[in-house]
Amino acid sequence: MPRVTDPRDAGMSEPRRRARRIGALIVGPLLAAGALSAQDAPPVAITGARILDVATGTYLEGRTILVRGDRIEAVGPDLDVPADATVEDLSGHVVLPGLLDMHTHLTSDPSGGSSDHRMHEWPGFAAIVGAKNARLTLMAGFTTVRNVGAGEFADVALKQAIERGIVPGPRVFAAAHSLGITGGHCDDNGFRPDLFAEPGIERGIANGPDEVAAAVRYQLKYGADVIKICATGGVLSAGDAVGVPQYSLEEIRSIVETAAMAEKKVAAHAHGTEGIKTAVRAGVASIEHGSILDDEAIALMKERGTYLVPTMMAFDAVVRGARSGFLTPFSARKALEIAPFFENSIRMAIAADVNIAFGTDAGVFPHGTNADEFRLLVEAGMTPTRAIRAATLDAAELLGRSEDLGSVEEGKYADLVAVTGDPLANVETLKDVSFVMKAGVVYKRVGQPVEVTPAQAGRRDVS
Ligand SMILES: [Zn+2]
Repeated sequence: MPRVTDPRDAGMSEPRRRARRIGALIVGPLLAAGALSAQDAPPVAITGARILDVATGTYLEGRTILVRGDRIEAVGPDLDVPADATVEDLSGHVVLPGLLDMHTHLTSDPSGGSSDHRMHEWPGFAAIVGAKNARLTLMAGFTTVRNVGAGEFADVALKQAIERGIVPGPRVFAAAHSLGITGGHCDDNGFRPDLFAEPGIERGIANGPDEVAAAVRYQLKYGADVIKICATGGVLSAGDAVGVPQYSLEEIRSIVETAAMAEKKVAAHAHGTEGIKTAVRAGVASIEHGSILDDEAIALMKERGTYLVPTMMAFDAVVRGARSGFLTPFSARKALEIAPFFENSIRMAIAADVNIAFGTDAGVFPHGTNADEFRLLVEAGMTPTRAIRAATLDAAELLGRSEDLGSVEEGKYADLVAVTGDPLANVETLKDVSFVMKAGVVYKRVGQPVEVTPAQAGRRDVS
């Protein structure tokens, strides 16, 4: 192995060092016209930090975090601060890794279950909505999201704009169009048949093992990082019952195998017990919502290491929406039908120590409030440490990116947030982050957003 001579390579694996050098070769000339290369920007030293070690739920006092480029170069109690470093004094703060939300819909706002708004929104509208919501999400301390479903590849476009520093936002793992059956939760139902062309694989509508494989390949071709499927009915869709299975074992197997050939994982929206079990047996990485679990479903998930992404905020929002009249009548009925089950299901999953990753379903309720999920998880039986782990280490594991994300460690992305309270004593302090850094760039300081130019953001935070 060649000797490491470039200090920027410290702590990186050999493939990453090579990738960084190749990246520098490509990006270098683009930035030569005036802008400083992100990797050549002066280092940042975060001093006085009380770091939350999310693996153990303990505090490490008086630490310095040295950030170079988009990565954490070193963490320690007595580091020398380089003379050219920019110092961020976070004395009096608890520093955590940037938070991860595994279930967002950045390109949409709450609709109450009506889908006709799409008829009045021009192409491109969703991506602009996404730009607004990406900013809110980042300012709330969420530096990475898995965006599980968007129309028109608006999430892929948003991700491009974030990566180029055009708009501030979290690191996005995009699903593009969710896959679903004709007339299912992921289809647009309730319109007269001659109004729209019948959607196909381009919009994620696919039936049968061959067609679903083609739909996976199509979404991957145009930028999906993860495949999202609708394995059962849902609350905010017209014309389908909430708990019914919507894909067969054969179909989901085809989806999982096709995605795996491209080294991609599958997230399955599933409410009803049968649909949950079918998706788990077919090998999906995560069950989204998981409203009606039973002992067998829990045993299957434990056996296969399947993650549950509980989205408790979504349940909370739809039940409130049903009672207030915000939801359409058909969605309100379904929300109230499923309400008695979900809280019991999440309690069972927590007690059985099923893998759980933090995910909210932001978009069903306003973006930027994501951290309220911590309170709901703790009320359902999680310790604060476990809930924070779900939004850091465990979410990174679900993404398959543990080497890059989820803790304040040498070599990982410099994604950091800070709060003034004690999140282990009160998880609600996470609703008020005062400092946000993503990929080594400060986006929020002393509770105020920081204006970041595209040149400052660089092109360094490619997911
Ligand atoms: Zn969702």
